[in-house]
Formats: sequence, C-alpha cells, structure tokens
Amino acid sequence: AQDHDGESTLEFRRNDRHLEVEIRPMDHGTLGLFRDVTAARELERSRREMQRMVSHELKTPLSSISGFGSMIETYELSREEQLRIAGLIRGEADRLATMVRTFLDLELLGTHQGTEQWATIDLGGLVEERCDILNAAAREAGQHLHVEGGDDCPVAGSADLLARLIDNLVGNAIKYSPGGATIRVVTRRLGPATILEVTDDGPGIDRDALPRIFERFYRVPGSGSSGSGLGLALVKEISDRHGGCVRAASEVGRGSTFTVELPCENPGMEA
Ligand code: ADP
Repeated sequence: AQDHDGESTLEFRRNDRHLEVEIRPMDHGTLGLFRDVTAARELERSRREMQRMVSHELKTPLSSISGFGSMIETYELSREEQLRIAGLIRGEADRLATMVRTFLDLELLGTHQGTEQWATIDLGGLVEERCDILNAAAREAGQHLHVEGGDDCPVAGSADLLARLIDNLVGNAIKYSPGGATIRVVTRRLGPATILEVTDDGPGIDRDALPRIFERFYRVPGSGSSGSGLGLALVKEISDRHGGCVRAASEVGRGSTFTVELPCENPGMEA
C-alpha cells in the first residue's frame, strides 16, 4: 500500500492462485480488497487456447479446398479428374462441417445450454439401435460387431447425446481397427450405474498418448487424416453431463477398451 498512492488495483500470484487487490486510501489508513480471480483467469486462458486451436485446425482443410479450387481454375481437366477433385473438396468440406458441429456441441455442453430432452433411457435398446446402423460400416471393413447384454440398463439422460457417445466410441473402434477385427459392445448393470463397454482388438493406443486422448483436438500421431481429435472430448463431456465417467485401457498391438459408467437415476440432472 505504501508503494501505491491513491486508488490502485494490482494482481499477483501466490501458491497457484491469482489474487486481485484493490487498494483505497481511507481517512485513517488504507483499505485492501483481495479477490481470488483464479477461476476467471483460467477461463480466459482456456478460451484463448481454444481460439488458437480452432483457427489452426480450420486452416488445413480450408487451404486444401482453396488449392483444389485453384486447380480447377488453372488446368484443363478431364471429366474424370474433375470428379476426383470434386470428391476431395466434398470430403474436406464434410470434415470441416463435422468438426464445427462437434465443436459447437462441446461448447454448448460446457455452458449447460443444450436443448436436449432428459428422460429415462433404455441404454441396451439404444446401443442395439445404433449398432444396427454402425454395423454397415463394420461389415464393409470386414469386421465383426457383437452386441451383448442390455437388459435392465436404464440411464437418466438424453437419448440424442447418448447416441452420439455410442456412435463415437463404436465408430472409433471401427475406424481404427483393421479388417477381420472383432468389436464387442457390452451393456450391463452394476448397482446404481449402467456400464457401457466398447472393446476392440485393433492397434491399441500408445502408453504416452493414452492420458491425452480425451483432450480436445488431440490425435495420436500417425492416426491418419480422417478425424478432428474432438470425438473423445465429446464422449467425455457427455459422460460428465450425465454425472458419469469414461476411462480407456489399451495395449499396443492388442486393442482398446473404453468403459463408460452412467448413473441409472439422477434426479438433479434435468436440464
Ligand atoms: P479422431 O478419431 O477424430 O482423431 P478422437 O477424439 O475420437 O479423435 O480420438 C483421439 C485419438 O485416439 C485418435 O486420433 C486415435 O488415435 C485414438 N483412438 C481413439 N479410439 C481408438 C481405438 N478404438 N483404437 C485405437 N486408437 C483410438
């Protein structure tokens, strides 16, 4: 206070906390108002980081689309080449659209502003429904998709969000496993919770990468070009939103298991 004449505000860090201090001279002494602004600073930091990542992730597909456009403008292309380039442009645009949709869903979930309907969902039934659709992709890749269990597996939640969780986990197992792989999707009851387990005997995930896979935009190096690194972040956000949790176990060369635990009843969760 002695260093600051008149009213002033300063901020400093102590033991990982950000403290803001307002100093006001009073008639007989000085008033110091201390505020812990750690949460606000952390939010600003993660917003900045998110903006940086979004612009970085959008640049690559946008510059591909722009490059393909220039090719069409510059060269006399055969009908075949035109079709090939149109397909590439559509693929990149679809990837961008999925990325933007997933990203907005994540933001909405984070701010609890989703418009989803909350009810008691029969998770076993929902898993069967989604797997009927996903099975087409598995069959095309020469994989076997097995669905097991599912009796008496209620979850208090949103059918839309839970469908996206199932699609992402089973979709990843299909996307990352080779032909001939077996993917098992098991739903079972464990006391007050319903468990969903997606197991594949695909490539597995490196031990160093495993702790990072639920981060936004994180992709294991060498995972190929079809992905945004947002799918598992969305799975985690959806599990959190339902008052549940998700974990992954994996071994390179042997496969991966993703386990989601969701409360059967959750009276406080209605949006
Ligand atoms: P995306 O699939 O778009 O890259 P995700 O967030 O869904 O993003 O997954 C993050 C990373 O985790 C992926 O890049 C992939 O390397 C790895 N991964 C996810 N699921 C599996 C799986 N079943 N088998 C092997 N690797 C996986």
